Amino acid sequence: MFWNVSFPSIPLLQPVDAILDVAIIGGGITGLSTAYYLKDSNLKIALFDKGKIGQGVTSKTTAKITYLQGNIYQKLGSRAKEYFLSQKMAISELLRIIEKEQISCDLEQVNSILFTLEDDNVSKITRERELVESFSCHTFDVVDSKIKAGFGINDSYVFHPLKYLSGLSKVLLSKVLFYENTLVQNIKRCEDYYILETSLGDFKARNVAVACHYPFFLYPNFFPLKTYIQREYVNVSKVGSNKHYSAINIDSNLHSIRFYNDYLIYGSNRHKLTSKIDYGKNYEKSKSDFKKYFHRVPEFTWMNQDIVSHDLLPFIGEIFPHLFMGTAYRGWGITNGTLAGKILSDLILHRENEFSSFFSPCRMSVSLFSNSFLGVFHYMKVYAEALWKKNNPYYIRINGVIYAIYEDKEYKIHKIRLLCPHMKCNLVFNSFDETWDCPCHGSRFDLDGKLMEGPAKENLKTSI
Ligand SMILES: Cc1cc2nc3c(=O)[nH]c(=O)nc-3n(C[C@H](O)[C@H](O)[C@H](O)COP(=O)(O)OP(=O)(O)OC[C@H]3O[C@@H](n4cnc5c(N)ncnc54)[C@H](O)[C@@H]3O)c2cc1C
Repeated sequence: MFWNVSFPSIPLLQPVDAILDVAIIGGGITGLSTAYYLKDSNLKIALFDKGKIGQGVTSKTTAKITYLQGNIYQKLGSRAKEYFLSQKMAISELLRIIEKEQISCDLEQVNSILFTLEDDNVSKITRERELVESFSCHTFDVVDSKIKAGFGINDSYVFHPLKYLSGLSKVLLSKVLFYENTLVQNIKRCEDYYILETSLGDFKARNVAVACHYPFFLYPNFFPLKTYIQREYVNVSKVGSNKHYSAINIDSNLHSIRFYNDYLIYGSNRHKLTSKIDYGKNYEKSKSDFKKYFHRVPEFTWMNQDIVSHDLLPFIGEIFPHLFMGTAYRGWGITNGTLAGKILSDLILHRENEFSSFFSPCRMSVSLFSNSFLGVFHYMKVYAEALWKKNNPYYIRINGVIYAIYEDKEYKIHKIRLLCPHMKCNLVFNSFDETWDCPCHGSRFDLDGKLMEGPAKENLKTSI
């Protein structure tokens, strides 16, 4: 993996009988930030991760820290100013934590650029710039023969995401109980606490913060209906120098650029999981785009996925008494994960937070639900096309159930039942990673059906 760093070693702990004050599920930027803000509260806090901390989506991010996030302010309309203020606050919090805790995470102040390659989008760039300036931000012109229009801001940053998380976990080690390799399978309300059913046994907690990226429960939030998943492909290669800027365009074909030392990190080919489901081909396209634009063969290639709410705002807050969540950051979770840590800790500690109602996960609106039906329709269409292809893998239907049979490069046969245990979506083969991916909610399984990424909580069935 490109972002690679050693985390402090975490001793193996036994379950505790006592009721925890706070259980945090997930050791990415959201979970660790929440723990960080609670660390001096004298509460008994435990953080659970199904694997090692820091190895989820945050380990595959491009780690830009900026409030210039596509043309989001136009899209948010009357909600733009409040969202802008939240991002500014999150950036200053990140800087404050890094300085206070002396975390060496290669933080660098860089220009952040928004641009378009399409004539039709020039007016959107102009409008976004007007909006950013109306928030009293200084902007500057970006002129380059390769782009149609662009502007920049200079109060943006980039860093090494795992050095940051590793630094946070060092600060937390003496204050938080870490349970690594502990999958939380279920949460149940019982009297005035929750029971967490985990692979290590049951735990009790008065407050639970769900920071596991994709919440693994359907109720009480109907989360899958209000969100979709977007996937993006990242290619990295040495280019000999650091150009000290980050950039992103607003066109449907994504180009995201930042530098780390003398490496160029390029994100591209972003799509909804339910569309473009020939995942192997998407990888190939992203690699060939990299060669086309930068004339280099990528040294590192990976894909990563993030959650988007249909109204474009994250879900951060209380969903049920003493049950909290932070997710759906739309590809901007370095700021929003930090913000979630602040909001969730304030709610747990009964402190005022100016943004808590703005991001409330209980908000309801027509736009939150209506788009989900379009997604399902599109998925069914492309999925039917994929199933008709008769090659490796082969699909067979037995007693109405579809099985997939795949022959790997060593001629070994793998068989799985094609149904995702989470919400019964049919899985799609990812020929690049040789995995089975759920196009609806993002769960991933290896060739033999072993769970790699949730929200699913169990392996695939393989027997006929
Ligand atoms: C390609 C790409 C580029 C991006 N670039 C940027 C960027 O430049 N700037 C930016 O601000 N954002 C960016 N983002 C978004 C950002 O990286 C994510 O939003 C953020 O990292 C999500 O953090 P998280 O803590 O919510 O999730 P994660 O980092 O995934 O952490 C969740 C943790 O929960 C654990 N877990 C899951 N289920 C369970 C369970 N049942 N029990 C126990 N543990 C569990 C997982 O193992 C994982 O460690 C990017 C996203 C993508 C996809």
